[in-house]
Amino acid sequence: MLRIQRQLPDRYTDATLEENEARIVAAKAALGEKLFILGHHYQRDEVMKYADARGDSFRLSVLAQQHPEADYIVFCGVHFMAESADILTEDHQAVILPDLNAGCSMADMADLDEVTEAWEQIAQVTDIERVVPITYMNSSADLKAFVGEHGGAVCTSTNARAILDWALDRGDKVLFFPDQHLGRNTGMAMGYTAADMSVWNPHKDMGGLEEADVKASTFLLWKGHCSIHQRFRPEHIEAFRAEHPDGIVICHPECPHDTVSMADQVGSTDYIIKAVAAAPAGSTIAIGTEVHLVNRLNDETPDKTVISLDPLVCPCSTMFRIDAPHLAWVLEQLVAGKVVNRITVDPETTEWAKVALDRMLG
Ligand code: SF4
Repeated sequence: MLRIQRQLPDRYTDATLEENEARIVAAKAALGEKLFILGHHYQRDEVMKYADARGDSFRLSVLAQQHPEADYIVFCGVHFMAESADILTEDHQAVILPDLNAGCSMADMADLDEVTEAWEQIAQVTDIERVVPITYMNSSADLKAFVGEHGGAVCTSTNARAILDWALDRGDKVLFFPDQHLGRNTGMAMGYTAADMSVWNPHKDMGGLEEADVKASTFLLWKGHCSIHQRFRPEHIEAFRAEHPDGIVICHPECPHDTVSMADQVGSTDYIIKAVAAAPAGSTIAIGTEVHLVNRLNDETPDKTVISLDPLVCPCSTMFRIDAPHLAWVLEQLVAGKVVNRITVDPETTEWAKVALDRMLG
């Protein structure tokens, strides 16, 4: 999805980190409780230190909803997260993304036209009333609205299993998008096998599947992935265990199934944080998730050694776009009375997306 971030003025790009940080501190003080800064776990430290709340995308959006006194919600995260916050907050609250180019490559792997086309093609060969669409939180607002309108729900990596149980109580089949790995890992944990799943390739007619495969599959998994989590491989676990036989491996469920099936523990960012806290002092823990969270856990848990499962792992490049210059710029614009980079979701999309989110919350 193309989004255009205007070039920042030189006074931000040429400034030292200390100068931009001083601007952030001054703007925060000037805006007071009208401002609420949200920091996703994968953000860099130079931004995270100014967040009023840290968390995953859904938790942060709910926190924004719980702070109606904040007219300005600055979401240090990526585009779909700011959309989710706008869906849940009140009209007087402006949700701001410091860099409009901060998208999510996984979320961009499924768009409304592709999903609508897939839905129509599936309807040609099976009873569409028995198919339940489920979208991961990491998707655009119009896809959340699509599932709301078609009897489905949103899920997070924490509640994916409960939502898939819910879906399969209501239908025979799930169309799960955009992350095939979360869908597969969750389905396998529920006791299904690879034979119950097919991957839907949106770039091929009928998803690249035979009609019989579409009919037979309980899970139609969208061919999407997270470029960061897909990098974690079984050989990383083998290498870590060779060096640390008593070490603990924890993977996010966006990692591929062959990796997840070898891990000691699997769970969302929230789970990972709790699992590190619960591990015995002196543990060495290798984590398969974005490296900023891994490094922060290592810094904040001095009695344990927390490392990335992939020694060569690179950060999420779109999360990385949010930096001190962009944060200083949006905040100083607010102090000057100008709202820049506001993310809005239209009322009809908001209404249906809320239906899908409400179903998730039961
Ligand atoms: S880590 Fe993966 S899922 Fe998260 S924002 Fe980056 S690309 Fe998207």
